[in-house]
Amino acid sequence: MTEAKPADLRVVIVGAGQAGHQMAASIREQGISGDLILLGEEAYPPYQRPPLSKAYLSAENPEDIGLEDLAFRPSAFFAERNIALRLDSRAKAIDRAARQVILESGEAIPYDHLVLATGARNRKLSAPGAAFDGVVQLRGLDDAFDLRRRLLTAKRVAVIGAGFIGLECAATAAKRGLPVTVVETADRVMARAVSPEISSAFEAAHREAGVDLRFGVLTAEILGADGKATGLRLRDGTTIAADLVIIGVGVEPNQDLASAAGLAVDNGVVVDARLLTSDPAISAIGDCARFPSPWADAPLRLESVQNAADQARCVAARLAGAVHDYVALPWFWSDQGALKLQIAGLSIGYDQVVLRRHPSRAGSFSAFCYRGRRLISVESVNAVADHMTARQILAAGFSPTPEQAADSTVDLKALAKAAA
Ligand code: FAD
Repeated sequence: MTEAKPADLRVVIVGAGQAGHQMAASIREQGISGDLILLGEEAYPPYQRPPLSKAYLSAENPEDIGLEDLAFRPSAFFAERNIALRLDSRAKAIDRAARQVILESGEAIPYDHLVLATGARNRKLSAPGAAFDGVVQLRGLDDAFDLRRRLLTAKRVAVIGAGFIGLECAATAAKRGLPVTVVETADRVMARAVSPEISSAFEAAHREAGVDLRFGVLTAEILGADGKATGLRLRDGTTIAADLVIIGVGVEPNQDLASAAGLAVDNGVVVDARLLTSDPAISAIGDCARFPSPWADAPLRLESVQNAADQARCVAARLAGAVHDYVALPWFWSDQGALKLQIAGLSIGYDQVVLRRHPSRAGSFSAFCYRGRRLISVESVNAVADHMTARQILAAGFSPTPEQAADSTVDLKALAKAAA
Protein backbone atom coordinates (compact mmCIF):
# COMPACT_ATOMS: atom_id res chain seq x y z
CA MET A 1 0.00 0.00 0.00
CA THR A 2 1.46 3.41 -0.93
CA GLU A 3 1.27 5.97 1.88
CA ALA A 4 -0.83 9.10 1.19
CA LYS A 5 0.91 12.47 1.52
CA PRO A 6 -0.40 14.52 4.47
CA ALA A 7 -2.33 16.87 2.18
CA ASP A 8 -4.13 13.98 0.46
CA LEU A 9 -4.74 11.87 3.52
CA ARG A 10 -8.15 10.23 3.64
CA VAL A 11 -9.30 10.49 7.24
CA VAL A 12 -12.30 8.80 8.83
CA ILE A 13 -13.48 9.95 12.26
CA VAL A 14 -15.78 7.73 14.31
CA GLY A 15 -17.89 9.82 16.69
CA ALA A 16 -19.32 13.24 15.85
CA GLY A 17 -19.18 14.77 19.33
CA GLN A 18 -16.91 17.39 20.89
CA ALA A 19 -13.67 15.67 19.87
CA GLY A 20 -14.81 14.33 16.49
CA HIS A 21 -16.23 17.61 15.22
CA GLN A 22 -13.10 19.52 16.35
CA MET A 23 -10.94 16.89 14.68
CA ALA A 24 -12.71 17.46 11.35
CA ALA A 25 -12.47 21.26 11.66
CA SER A 26 -8.78 21.15 12.63
CA ILE A 27 -7.88 18.80 9.79
CA ARG A 28 -9.13 21.37 7.33
CA GLU A 29 -7.43 24.22 9.26
CA GLN A 30 -4.18 22.25 8.89
CA GLY A 31 -4.59 22.23 5.12
CA ILE A 32 -5.28 18.52 4.76
CA SER A 33 -7.64 18.37 1.81
CA GLY A 34 -8.18 14.64 1.25
CA ASP A 35 -11.53 12.91 1.79
CA LEU A 36 -12.79 13.52 5.30
CA ILE A 37 -15.65 11.48 6.71
CA LEU A 38 -17.22 12.23 10.11
CA LEU A 39 -19.41 9.36 11.31
CA GLY A 40 -21.95 9.96 14.06
CA GLU A 41 -24.40 7.42 15.42
CA GLU A 42 -26.74 10.12 16.74
CA ALA A 43 -29.41 11.78 14.61
CA TYR A 44 -28.21 15.32 15.45
CA PRO A 45 -25.35 17.33 14.00
CA PRO A 46 -22.49 17.76 16.51
CA TYR A 47 -23.70 19.60 19.63
CA GLN A 48 -22.38 20.77 22.97
CA ARG A 49 -23.10 18.58 25.99
CA PRO A 50 -22.25 20.97 28.87
CA PRO A 51 -25.45 23.08 28.50
CA LEU A 52 -27.57 19.91 28.73
CA SER A 53 -27.16 19.88 32.52
CA LYS A 54 -27.07 23.69 32.80
CA ALA A 55 -28.80 26.31 30.60
CA TYR A 56 -30.78 23.80 28.54
CA LEU A 57 -32.15 22.07 31.62
CA SER A 58 -33.01 25.22 33.52
CA ALA A 59 -34.54 27.20 30.63
CA GLU A 60 -37.97 28.40 31.71
CA ASN A 61 -39.38 27.96 28.25
CA PRO A 62 -38.46 24.93 26.08
CA GLU A 63 -38.33 27.28 23.07
CA ASP A 64 -35.67 29.43 24.79
CA ILE A 65 -32.88 27.07 23.86
CA GLY A 66 -32.93 24.46 21.12
CA LEU A 67 -30.71 22.39 18.85
CA GLU A 68 -29.57 25.43 16.86
CA ASP A 69 -28.23 26.97 20.11
CA LEU A 70 -26.44 23.78 21.09
CA ALA A 71 -24.92 22.94 17.69
CA PHE A 72 -21.21 23.69 17.43
CA ARG A 73 -21.47 24.93 13.87
CA PRO A 74 -24.09 26.24 11.49
CA SER A 75 -25.40 23.53 9.19
CA ALA A 76 -23.43 24.80 6.16
CA PHE A 77 -20.07 24.50 7.97
CA PHE A 78 -19.40 20.88 7.07
CA ALA A 79 -20.42 21.03 3.41
CA GLU A 80 -18.41 24.24 2.91
CA ARG A 81 -15.28 22.43 4.07
CA ASN A 82 -16.01 19.26 2.18
CA ILE A 83 -16.49 17.30 5.37
CA ALA A 84 -18.83 14.37 4.78
CA LEU A 85 -20.92 14.45 7.96
CA ARG A 86 -22.84 11.20 8.13
CA LEU A 87 -25.44 11.08 10.88
CA ASP A 88 -27.32 7.96 12.03
CA SER A 89 -24.20 6.08 10.95
CA ARG A 90 -22.92 3.75 13.60
CA ALA A 91 -19.56 2.11 12.99
CA LYS A 92 -19.81 -1.54 13.95
CA ALA A 93 -16.32 -2.85 13.15
CA ILE A 94 -12.84 -1.91 12.00
CA ASP A 95 -11.07 -4.07 9.42
CA ARG A 96 -7.51 -3.03 10.20
CA ALA A 97 -5.91 -5.23 7.54
CA ALA A 98 -8.01 -3.61 4.80
CA ARG A 99 -8.05 -0.19 6.54
CA GLN A 100 -11.81 0.05 6.46
CA VAL A 101 -14.55 0.99 8.89
CA ILE A 102 -17.68 -1.12 8.55
CA LEU A 103 -21.02 0.55 9.25
CA GLU A 104 -24.11 -1.15 10.70
CA SER A 105 -25.51 -1.08 7.16
CA GLY A 106 -22.58 -3.19 5.96
CA GLU A 107 -21.04 -0.33 4.00
CA ALA A 108 -17.22 -0.32 4.13
CA ILE A 109 -15.46 3.06 4.35
CA PRO A 110 -11.75 3.05 3.59
CA TYR A 111 -9.25 5.21 5.48
CA ASP A 112 -5.60 6.16 5.44
CA HIS A 113 -5.92 7.31 9.01
CA LEU A 114 -8.74 6.53 11.44
CA VAL A 115 -9.57 8.62 14.51
CA LEU A 116 -11.66 7.09 17.27
CA ALA A 117 -13.66 9.78 19.06
CA THR A 118 -16.41 7.56 20.42
CA GLY A 119 -16.77 9.28 23.81
CA ALA A 120 -18.23 7.58 26.83
CA ARG A 121 -21.57 6.24 28.02
CA ASN A 122 -23.27 6.44 31.38
CA ARG A 123 -22.35 3.75 33.88
CA LYS A 124 -25.37 1.69 34.89
CA LEU A 125 -26.49 1.51 38.48
CA SER A 126 -25.83 -1.94 39.91
CA ALA A 127 -28.92 -1.78 42.19
CA PRO A 128 -32.29 -3.03 40.83
CA GLY A 129 -35.15 -0.78 39.75
CA ALA A 130 -33.44 1.31 37.07
CA ALA A 131 -36.06 0.29 34.49
CA PHE A 132 -38.95 2.04 36.28
CA ASP A 133 -40.49 4.99 34.49
CA GLY A 134 -39.09 8.14 36.09
CA VAL A 135 -35.52 6.83 36.36
CA VAL A 136 -33.23 8.78 34.04
CA GLN A 137 -29.60 9.34 33.12
CA LEU A 138 -28.15 12.28 31.22
CA ARG A 139 -25.66 12.08 28.39
CA GLY A 140 -27.25 13.18 25.14
CA LEU A 141 -29.81 15.56 23.75
CA ASP A 142 -32.67 13.04 23.90
CA ASP A 143 -31.93 12.41 27.59
CA ALA A 144 -31.90 16.16 28.28
CA PHE A 145 -35.18 16.67 26.43
CA ASP A 146 -36.77 13.88 28.47
CA LEU A 147 -35.36 15.16 31.77
CA ARG A 148 -36.44 18.74 31.10
CA ARG A 149 -39.97 17.53 30.41
CA ARG A 150 -40.04 15.40 33.55
CA LEU A 151 -38.79 18.26 35.73
CA LEU A 152 -41.93 20.20 34.82
CA THR A 153 -44.23 17.64 36.45
CA ALA A 154 -42.04 15.90 39.06
CA LYS A 155 -43.00 16.19 42.74
CA ARG A 156 -39.81 14.96 44.44
CA VAL A 157 -36.36 14.31 43.00
CA ALA A 158 -33.63 11.91 44.13
CA VAL A 159 -30.17 12.11 42.61
CA ILE A 160 -27.83 9.13 42.93
CA GLY A 161 -24.24 10.39 42.84
CA ALA A 162 -22.81 13.75 43.90
CA GLY A 163 -20.54 14.24 40.91
CA PHE A 164 -20.65 17.20 38.53
CA ILE A 165 -23.68 16.17 36.50
CA GLY A 166 -25.72 14.93 39.47
CA LEU A 167 -25.08 18.18 41.33
CA GLU A 168 -25.85 20.38 38.33
CA CYS A 169 -29.18 18.55 37.93
CA ALA A 170 -29.86 18.83 41.68
CA ALA A 171 -29.24 22.58 41.58
CA THR A 172 -31.59 23.00 38.62
CA ALA A 173 -34.34 20.94 40.25
CA ALA A 174 -33.99 22.87 43.52
CA LYS A 175 -34.19 26.14 41.62
CA ARG A 176 -37.49 24.95 40.21
CA GLY A 177 -38.70 24.62 43.80
CA LEU A 178 -38.61 20.81 43.91
CA PRO A 179 -37.54 18.91 47.03
CA VAL A 180 -34.23 17.22 46.12
CA THR A 181 -32.24 14.53 47.91
CA VAL A 182 -28.74 13.60 46.74
CA VAL A 183 -27.26 10.29 47.91
CA GLU A 184 -23.53 9.66 47.62
CA THR A 185 -21.28 6.79 48.72
CA ALA A 186 -18.26 9.04 49.37
CA ASP A 187 -18.13 11.37 52.34
CA ARG A 188 -18.28 14.61 50.34
CA VAL A 189 -19.35 16.02 46.96
CA MET A 190 -17.11 15.76 43.87
CA ALA A 191 -14.66 13.78 46.01
CA ARG A 192 -12.63 12.41 43.08
CA ALA A 193 -12.07 15.80 41.47
CA VAL A 194 -11.73 18.58 44.03
CA SER A 195 -10.19 19.30 47.42
CA PRO A 196 -12.29 19.03 50.62
CA GLU A 197 -12.31 22.84 50.90
CA ILE A 198 -14.19 23.14 47.61
CA SER A 199 -16.54 20.28 48.50
CA SER A 200 -17.45 22.11 51.73
CA ALA A 201 -18.29 25.33 49.91
CA PHE A 202 -20.52 23.51 47.43
CA GLU A 203 -22.20 21.43 50.13
CA ALA A 204 -23.09 24.61 52.03
CA ALA A 205 -24.51 26.22 48.87
CA HIS A 206 -26.58 23.17 47.91
CA ARG A 207 -27.94 22.86 51.45
CA GLU A 208 -28.80 26.54 51.48
CA ALA A 209 -30.75 25.99 48.26
CA GLY A 210 -32.73 23.28 50.05
CA VAL A 211 -30.94 20.18 48.75
CA ASP A 212 -30.79 17.28 51.21
CA LEU A 213 -27.29 15.76 50.91
CA ARG A 214 -26.66 12.26 52.32
CA PHE A 215 -23.10 10.92 52.39
CA GLY A 216 -21.62 7.47 53.00
CA VAL A 217 -24.80 5.77 51.78
CA LEU A 218 -25.41 3.11 49.16
CA THR A 219 -28.58 2.65 47.12
CA ALA A 220 -29.94 -0.86 47.66
CA GLU A 221 -32.78 -0.49 45.15
CA ILE A 222 -34.97 1.96 43.31
CA LEU A 223 -38.51 1.45 44.54
CA GLY A 224 -41.52 1.52 42.25
CA ALA A 225 -45.22 0.83 41.91
CA ASP A 226 -47.24 0.24 38.74
CA GLY A 227 -44.04 0.52 36.71
CA LYS A 228 -43.23 3.99 38.05
CA ALA A 229 -40.42 5.04 40.36
CA THR A 230 -41.55 5.93 43.88
CA GLY A 231 -38.19 6.37 45.60
CA LEU A 232 -35.00 4.77 46.86
CA ARG A 233 -34.19 2.26 49.53
CA LEU A 234 -30.71 2.65 50.94
CA ARG A 235 -28.57 -0.19 52.28
CA ASP A 236 -29.20 0.97 55.85
CA GLY A 237 -32.94 0.53 55.29
CA THR A 238 -33.77 4.24 54.96
CA THR A 239 -36.24 5.08 52.21
CA ILE A 240 -36.40 8.32 50.23
CA ALA A 241 -39.55 9.26 48.31
CA ALA A 242 -39.04 10.41 44.72
CA ASP A 243 -41.00 10.19 41.47
CA LEU A 244 -37.96 11.35 39.48
CA VAL A 245 -34.65 9.55 40.06
CA ILE A 246 -31.55 10.87 38.30
CA ILE A 247 -28.62 8.47 38.18
CA GLY A 248 -25.23 10.18 37.88
CA VAL A 249 -22.69 7.53 38.81
CA GLY A 250 -20.03 8.27 36.21
CA VAL A 251 -19.27 7.05 32.73
CA GLU A 252 -17.33 4.31 31.00
CA PRO A 253 -15.45 4.72 27.74
CA ASN A 254 -16.89 3.53 24.43
CA GLN A 255 -14.00 1.20 23.63
CA ASP A 256 -15.81 -1.87 22.24
CA LEU A 257 -15.04 -1.00 18.62
CA ALA A 258 -11.34 -0.68 19.44
CA SER A 259 -11.12 -3.81 21.54
CA ALA A 260 -12.99 -5.93 18.96
CA ALA A 261 -10.40 -4.75 16.42
CA GLY A 262 -7.58 -5.97 18.66
CA LEU A 263 -6.40 -2.52 19.80
CA ALA A 264 -5.09 -2.21 23.35
CA VAL A 265 -7.78 -1.05 25.80
CA ASP A 266 -7.60 -0.52 29.55
CA ASN A 267 -10.38 1.69 30.89
CA GLY A 268 -10.17 3.52 27.58
CA VAL A 269 -8.46 3.07 24.24
CA VAL A 270 -4.77 3.03 25.11
CA VAL A 271 -2.75 5.67 23.25
CA ASP A 272 0.82 6.95 23.48
CA ALA A 273 1.92 10.51 24.19
CA ARG A 274 1.07 11.41 20.58
CA LEU A 275 -2.41 9.91 20.94
CA LEU A 276 -1.68 6.98 18.63
CA THR A 277 -3.22 3.60 19.45
CA SER A 278 -1.31 0.33 19.18
CA ASP A 279 -1.99 0.60 15.40
CA PRO A 280 -0.07 3.53 13.83
CA ALA A 281 -2.95 4.14 11.39
CA ILE A 282 -5.42 4.76 14.24
CA SER A 283 -5.56 7.57 16.82
CA ALA A 284 -7.98 7.95 19.72
CA ILE A 285 -9.06 11.21 21.36
CA GLY A 286 -11.49 12.63 23.91
CA ASP A 287 -13.42 10.78 26.59
CA CYS A 288 -12.62 7.36 25.09
CA ALA A 289 -8.80 7.71 25.14
CA ARG A 290 -6.44 6.75 27.95
CA PHE A 291 -3.22 8.69 27.55
CA PRO A 292 0.02 9.52 29.37
CA SER A 293 0.04 13.11 30.63
CA PRO A 294 2.80 15.26 32.08
CA TRP A 295 0.15 16.47 34.55
CA ALA A 296 -0.42 13.01 36.07
CA ASP A 297 1.77 10.17 37.37
CA ALA A 298 -0.10 7.47 35.46
CA PRO A 299 -2.04 7.33 32.17
CA LEU A 300 -5.58 8.58 32.56
CA ARG A 301 -8.81 9.42 30.78
CA LEU A 302 -10.23 12.91 31.06
CA GLU A 303 -13.85 13.80 30.48
CA SER A 304 -13.77 17.45 29.52
CA VAL A 305 -14.35 19.84 26.65
CA GLN A 306 -10.78 21.16 26.87
CA ASN A 307 -9.28 17.69 26.61
CA ALA A 308 -11.48 16.59 23.71
CA ALA A 309 -10.80 19.76 21.71
CA ASP A 310 -7.06 20.01 22.44
CA GLN A 311 -6.46 16.34 21.67
CA ALA A 312 -8.22 16.80 18.33
CA ARG A 313 -5.94 19.76 17.50
CA CYS A 314 -2.86 17.77 18.51
CA VAL A 315 -3.74 14.84 16.23
CA ALA A 316 -4.64 17.12 13.31
CA ALA A 317 -1.25 18.83 13.64
CA ARG A 318 0.50 15.45 13.69
CA LEU A 319 -1.32 14.30 10.55
CA ALA A 320 -0.17 17.49 8.86
CA GLY A 321 3.43 16.75 9.84
CA ALA A 322 3.86 18.78 13.07
CA VAL A 323 4.45 15.86 15.40
CA HIS A 324 4.42 16.63 19.12
CA ASP A 325 3.33 15.07 22.38
CA TYR A 326 0.00 16.01 23.89
CA VAL A 327 0.90 18.17 26.88
CA ALA A 328 -2.01 20.63 27.19
CA LEU A 329 -2.90 21.79 30.69
CA PRO A 330 -6.22 20.22 31.75
CA TRP A 331 -8.98 22.60 32.76
CA PHE A 332 -12.65 22.18 33.53
CA TRP A 333 -15.73 23.99 34.78
CA SER A 334 -19.07 23.23 36.40
CA ASP A 335 -21.98 25.59 37.13
CA GLN A 336 -24.13 24.69 40.12
CA GLY A 337 -26.75 27.21 41.17
CA ALA A 338 -25.00 30.50 41.91
CA LEU A 339 -21.56 28.87 42.05
CA LYS A 340 -19.18 28.61 39.14
CA LEU A 341 -16.37 26.12 39.69
CA GLN A 342 -13.30 26.28 37.46
CA ILE A 343 -10.37 23.91 37.81
CA ALA A 344 -6.94 24.33 36.24
CA GLY A 345 -4.59 21.34 36.48
CA LEU A 346 -5.46 18.03 38.12
CA SER A 347 -6.17 17.75 41.82
CA ILE A 348 -4.50 14.37 42.24
CA GLY A 349 -1.88 13.65 44.89
CA TYR A 350 -1.80 17.06 46.59
CA ASP A 351 -0.56 17.32 50.17
CA GLN A 352 -1.33 20.96 50.95
CA VAL A 353 -4.29 23.20 50.08
CA VAL A 354 -4.01 26.97 50.46
CA LEU A 355 -7.04 29.25 50.19
CA ARG A 356 -6.87 32.60 48.42
CA ARG A 357 -9.88 34.63 49.44
CA HIS A 358 -11.18 37.85 47.92
CA PRO A 359 -12.64 39.81 50.83
CA SER A 360 -14.26 42.39 48.56
CA ARG A 361 -16.25 39.68 46.75
CA ALA A 362 -18.21 37.46 49.15
CA GLY A 363 -17.95 33.76 48.30
CA SER A 364 -15.19 34.28 45.74
CA PHE A 365 -12.09 32.21 46.47
CA SER A 366 -9.61 29.70 45.08
CA ALA A 367 -7.97 26.60 46.50
CA PHE A 368 -4.32 26.24 45.46
CA CYS A 369 -3.30 22.57 45.68
CA TYR A 370 0.37 21.74 46.22
CA ARG A 371 2.46 18.63 46.10
CA GLY A 372 5.47 19.58 48.17
CA ARG A 373 6.32 23.10 46.98
CA ARG A 374 4.92 22.47 43.51
CA LEU A 375 1.55 23.93 42.57
CA ILE A 376 -0.42 21.20 40.76
CA SER A 377 -3.93 22.63 40.51
CA VAL A 378 -6.11 25.61 41.31
CA GLU A 379 -9.83 25.27 41.99
CA SER A 380 -11.70 28.56 41.77
CA VAL A 381 -15.20 29.39 42.99
CA ASN A 382 -16.76 32.48 41.42
CA ALA A 383 -13.21 33.69 40.76
CA VAL A 384 -12.77 33.77 36.99
CA ALA A 385 -9.65 35.96 37.11
CA ASP A 386 -7.93 33.51 39.49
CA HIS A 387 -8.74 30.70 37.08
CA MET A 388 -7.29 32.51 34.08
CA THR A 389 -4.14 33.37 36.07
CA ALA A 390 -3.88 29.78 37.26
CA ARG A 391 -4.00 28.47 33.70
CA GLN A 392 -1.18 30.80 32.73
CA ILE A 393 1.11 30.12 35.67
CA LEU A 394 0.54 26.35 35.67
CA ALA A 395 1.21 26.14 31.92
CA ALA A 396 4.38 28.19 32.47
CA GLY A 397 5.48 25.79 35.23
CA PHE A 398 5.53 28.56 37.83
CA SER A 399 4.71 27.80 41.47
CA PRO A 400 4.11 30.74 43.78
CA THR A 401 4.93 29.92 47.40
CA PRO A 402 1.88 28.92 49.46
CA GLU A 403 2.26 32.23 51.31
CA GLN A 404 2.12 34.20 48.04
CA ALA A 405 -0.86 32.19 46.84
CA ALA A 406 -2.77 32.85 50.06
CA ASP A 407 -2.28 36.63 49.84
CA SER A 408 -4.86 38.05 47.42
CA THR A 409 -2.88 41.30 47.17
CA VAL A 410 0.05 39.47 45.55
CA ASP A 411 0.00 39.70 41.74
CA LEU A 412 0.75 36.09 40.77
CA LYS A 413 0.93 36.85 37.06
CA ALA A 414 3.59 39.50 37.63
CA LEU A 415 5.55 37.07 39.82
CA ALA A 416 5.40 34.43 37.10
CA LYS A 417 6.57 36.96 34.51
CA ALA A 418 9.46 38.07 36.69
CA ALA A 419 10.46 34.44 37.29
CA ALA A 420 10.40 33.56 33.58
P1 FAD B 1 -18.85 12.85 23.01
O1 FAD B 1 -19.07 14.31 22.98
O2 FAD B 1 -19.68 12.01 23.92
O3 FAD B 1 -19.00 12.32 21.51
C1 FAD B 1 -18.85 10.98 21.18
C2 FAD B 1 -19.83 10.70 20.04
O4 FAD B 1 -19.46 9.46 19.43
C3 FAD B 1 -21.26 10.53 20.52
O5 FAD B 1 -22.12 11.34 19.76
C4 FAD B 1 -21.53 9.05 20.29
O6 FAD B 1 -22.90 8.79 20.04
C5 FAD B 1 -20.65 8.76 19.10
N1 FAD B 1 -20.33 7.35 18.89
C6 FAD B 1 -19.93 6.45 19.83
N2 FAD B 1 -19.70 5.26 19.26
C7 FAD B 1 -19.94 5.39 17.93
C8 FAD B 1 -19.88 4.50 16.82
N3 FAD B 1 -19.55 3.23 16.97
N4 FAD B 1 -20.20 4.99 15.58
C9 FAD B 1 -20.56 6.30 15.42
N5 FAD B 1 -20.65 7.19 16.45
C10 FAD B 1 -20.33 6.73 17.69
N6 FAD B 1 -17.13 19.04 30.20
C11 FAD B 1 -16.61 20.21 30.61
O7 FAD B 1 -15.43 20.47 30.37
N7 FAD B 1 -17.38 21.11 31.30
C12 FAD B 1 -18.69 20.87 31.57
O8 FAD B 1 -19.35 21.69 32.19
C13 FAD B 1 -19.27 19.65 31.13
N8 FAD B 1 -20.58 19.39 31.33
C14 FAD B 1 -21.12 18.23 30.84
C15 FAD B 1 -22.49 18.00 30.99
C16 FAD B 1 -23.05 16.84 30.48
C17 FAD B 1 -24.54 16.60 30.64
C18 FAD B 1 -22.25 15.88 29.82
C19 FAD B 1 -22.85 14.60 29.28
C20 FAD B 1 -20.89 16.09 29.66
C21 FAD B 1 -20.32 17.27 30.16
N9 FAD B 1 -18.97 17.55 30.00
C22 FAD B 1 -18.43 18.74 30.44
C23 FAD B 1 -18.08 16.56 29.38
C24 FAD B 1 -17.86 16.85 27.91
O9 FAD B 1 -19.08 17.13 27.26
C25 FAD B 1 -17.20 15.62 27.29
O10 FAD B 1 -15.95 15.45 27.93
C26 FAD B 1 -17.03 15.77 25.79
O11 FAD B 1 -18.28 15.79 25.16
C27 FAD B 1 -16.20 14.61 25.26
O12 FAD B 1 -16.16 14.67 23.88
P2 FAD B 1 -16.04 13.33 23.03
O13 FAD B 1 -16.12 13.74 21.61
O14 FAD B 1 -14.90 12.52 23.51
O15 FAD B 1 -17.35 12.50 23.40
